[in-house]
Amino acid sequence: MDKHTTPTSSSAGLSPGIAMQNELQLVRAQLNDLINEARQNQAILQRHQSLDLQLIGSQSFRELIRHIFVTLADMCELDQVTLCLLNSQHNLQEMLADLNIASDEFPFLLFAQNEIELRHEDKPLRKSIVGPYEANEHQKWFAPYATPPQSVAIIPLIRQSKLLGCLNLGSDQLDRFEIDMGTDFIERLGSIIAICLENVINSERLTQIGLTDALTNVSNRRHVEQRILEEIGRARRQHYGISCMYLDIDHFKKINDIHGHQGGDEVLKEAAKRIKAELRLSDTIGRFGGEEFVVLLVNTNHEDAIHVAERIRKSIANQPFLLSMTGLCDVTISIGIATLSDDHNLGEIESAAKALLQRADAALYEAKEKGRNRVIDSPED
Ligand code: GH3
Ligand code: MG
Ligand code: MG
Repeated sequence: MDKHTTPTSSSAGLSPGIAMQNELQLVRAQLNDLINEARQNQAILQRHQSLDLQLIGSQSFRELIRHIFVTLADMCELDQVTLCLLNSQHNLQEMLADLNIASDEFPFLLFAQNEIELRHEDKPLRKSIVGPYEANEHQKWFAPYATPPQSVAIIPLIRQSKLLGCLNLGSDQLDRFEIDMGTDFIERLGSIIAICLENVINSERLTQIGLTDALTNVSNRRHVEQRILEEIGRARRQHYGISCMYLDIDHFKKINDIHGHQGGDEVLKEAAKRIKAELRLSDTIGRFGGEEFVVLLVNTNHEDAIHVAERIRKSIANQPFLLSMTGLCDVTISIGIATLSDDHNLGEIESAAKALLQRADAALYEAKEKGRNRVIDSPED
């Protein structure tokens, strides 16, 4: 706008026709500038709307996080974006494990254990902070990047007066985030991301509840059955082996008789915990009913599966369980194993899954027959 000034002085001395023409040209140029500016604003608005829609449309935690690190960074031409989530209200790291999100999948996703870690200049983070990068205040938010940005925006994510974390934007341009700039867009972005985060976290929780056994917190039968199908499909596509374990606590009826139903429940919880401790993040453990568990080991051959099963058996048998009401309780477990080797591309996935479980169950039966507290493997298919 300020490129064109009104022509009063410069047109002095010209004939009225030429002066008028000059004036017209300048007005036209001003109009063009205005139109260009309006078009630019329109394009920015459309970009922001499209970003909002993508953020709001995220169906899962993983999708939302990807939109924050990729779509937001791209559309807003940001050089650095990190997100720090406060872990105190939600057990987020457990949720990430349930979602099979390994710690290196999102290197720019950070966690704070309490609000103190999110303070800025020793004050609670309640309002966005924009300005030049200052190492002592901002280094922690941009640590995953090799070089620090020049200017930053630290945006608190607040939902119903609760701080969920902060979104940290960094630019290599010093004048991108200036102390006295308007922060309307930034505040709005913070509100949208806070709502989206709360939504996806709640919805992941609900899904998880529907797939989880309430007593032991491992997957329920429905979930394991679904996972077996998915995993056999993936194992076939990627040509690797898959092993299935059927586990059953020995003489559990007696444990219930001696230690009561509550004692029995404690044994189930502790057994699930000990089994899980021997598995990788990518393996699945589920309670199939009563005192029976099923474990699915992906990308695992027969020998490795026997090793894992032996480790589980020992971790249960070698250390008595400490029950809250009745004290120590010796527990043992029997385990049956079946493996689908990496060249099992035959038949329908459903029947392959059923046969795998049946073979593991038959091996478990044999383990019981042979005296319990042992691992039996069914011959490879
Ligand atoms: P085996 O060594 O042959 O496996 O014998 P067992 O006594 O472990 O097996 P059985 O199937 O005869 O008994 C399982 C018992 O588990 C019977 C049932 O009352 C008990 N049970 C099933 N679900 C639960 C539960 O959620 N909590 C508790 N405490 N007990 C349960
Ligand atoms: Mg049983
Ligand atoms: Mg049993």
